Amino acid sequence: MAGLLFIISAPSGSGKSTLVHELRSIEKHLDFSVSYTTRAPRGSEEDGREYHFVTREQFEKMIAADELLEYADVFGNYYGTARSTLRESLANGRDLLLDIDVQGAEQVRKKLPEAISIFILPPTPEILKMRLTNRSRAEGKVDEGVIERRLAKARQEIENYRKYKYVLVNDVLPRAVDELSAIVKAERYLHEGDDLSRKGVQKVLGIAESCRESNAVGRLRPVLDSFGVPFPPQPAHV
Ligand code: ADP
Ligand code: 5GP
Repeated sequence: MAGLLFIISAPSGSGKSTLVHELRSIEKHLDFSVSYTTRAPRGSEEDGREYHFVTREQFEKMIAADELLEYADVFGNYYGTARSTLRESLANGRDLLLDIDVQGAEQVRKKLPEAISIFILPPTPEILKMRLTNRSRAEGKVDEGVIERRLAKARQEIENYRKYKYVLVNDVLPRAVDELSAIVKAERYLHEGDDLSRKGVQKVLGIAESCRESNAVGRLRPVLDSFGVPFPPQPAHV
């Protein structure tokens, strides 16, 4: 059976990499798509592990050869997913996780509507700023301009949250990890036609369902308010 495709998006600094790292230690048989990017490595990042770091010229060659499933310009750098990554994972029946921005997610949804998309919200702009600053500090490079640009972009990105099937708030890390893990498990149960009446399965399905917009109004409203995003904004697309 072909594997599942998960897309995860979040404003920069929301804790997506942290969550994905935790998820991968819990959920086995989940491939992580290593994107191509023209941005420089950050902190302890290694070529081929977090990203394939390439030049603009190399990236543009990949675009011209139609080797990318999707790509986007994010903060002045190219980021993209190779078609070969998706082909290999799904052909081997493995699930694949794409960590891509809202523009890339839109492109993938158009091509592969069966993709399961998840949006991660930071709790407030103040907390987002603190996380961006702490991360920059840990990497020994605090650039106020970069942080301000990422904060400004966050609101724009958050406006897209309704296009995603699931939405969760990365406030308390263990809770967000539990929710993300439950979403992956729930989708696998549904895909594999498991016995959904089992108690453990019911619990997982319940947690995943609590991350659907209609079931999370109480949690989402204050977060959206804090970012100045109207609630509810545009009509839902999922
Ligand atoms: P992203 O991948 O979304 O850009 P990171 O995973 O790099 O973000 O996280 C940004 C910073 O926030 C990191 O320093 C990380 O340790 C911290 N962080 C992530 N999730 C939480 C959380 N739930 N509570 C507190 N700090 C967090
Ligand atoms: P960062 O530079 O912080 O690692 O990532 C910046 C943004 O680029 C994040 O929102 C991340 O999800 C996005 N991104 C990473 N890889 C890809 C990709 O292959 N395609 C697209 N469209 N966005 C990506």
